[in-house]
Amino acid sequence: MFRIGYHVSSSGGYLAMGRRAVRRGANTFAYFTRNPRGGAVKALDEKDISDFRSYCEENGVEQIVAHAPYTLNPCAEKENVRVFAKMVLTEDLGRMEYTPGQFYNFHPGSHVGQGMKKGIETIAALLNRVMWPEMRTTVLFETMAGKGSEVGGSFEEIRELLDRVVLGDKTGVCVDTCHVWDAGYDIENDLDGVLREFDRVIGLDRLKAVHLNNSQSPRGARKDRHAKLTEGKISLEAFARIINHPALMDMPFILETPNDEDGYEKEIAMLKEMFDKVASNS
Ligand code: FE
Ligand code: FE
Ligand code: ZN
Repeated sequence: MFRIGYHVSSSGGYLAMGRRAVRRGANTFAYFTRNPRGGAVKALDEKDISDFRSYCEENGVEQIVAHAPYTLNPCAEKENVRVFAKMVLTEDLGRMEYTPGQFYNFHPGSHVGQGMKKGIETIAALLNRVMWPEMRTTVLFETMAGKGSEVGGSFEEIRELLDRVVLGDKTGVCVDTCHVWDAGYDIENDLDGVLREFDRVIGLDRLKAVHLNNSQSPRGARKDRHAKLTEGKISLEAFARIINHPALMDMPFILETPNDEDGYEKEIAMLKEMFDKVASNS
């Protein structure tokens, strides 16, 4: 089954998000657990959550990929930034238990001059403090473009992170197509090779979700500037191969392209068309 969605605005609460997604043709979606720049969260509305859960069930909405705020940096050099990261992760993972079985995706962090090894160790140590054995959410490390001192710009760094988290069965990876492209992986001409490399270094069984974005920059630029699917450096044919690849077809695909709601609706319709075409031809 083709799971496709986009990053919806979280205004109006859970049910509003679900409705927004379904209206645009999505059967999954992503949302920020709070203001992307950080900040406080609203109190949970249990009625809204139970309405949302039945709405999702009735409309086949599954495998939702929540996104932590961008400002989260578990391996910052400044202590107050690390304290904030711990507070956000604790609070968000606690809240996610109200919508069990979903993904919590986050950018691993930036080591800001402390070195990659220290960065990886600090991130994993924090996760080991905020995760617990009975939790029902899977925490995903997002593959990054490798901009500045970002952690997670290579499969090896992601592997190092995964190896250090004790509750391994509650962790996984979200591949962002713009980010891996910017990090240098050639998903345009050698998707099979990139996936083989992912499998060799990390293991394809750890791959849980895909952020589907084009990139404004040439491969290897380490810039992280997203583009609409039809407007970046990666061809539409490459996206058709990605969504139809046997190793990827069961993933939730999430658009984080620079679009308004109408733009997302168009990209979703276009991708469904691209998915069906190949599937019905084979
Ligand atoms: Fe992200
Ligand atoms: Fe992303
Ligand atoms: Zn990005």
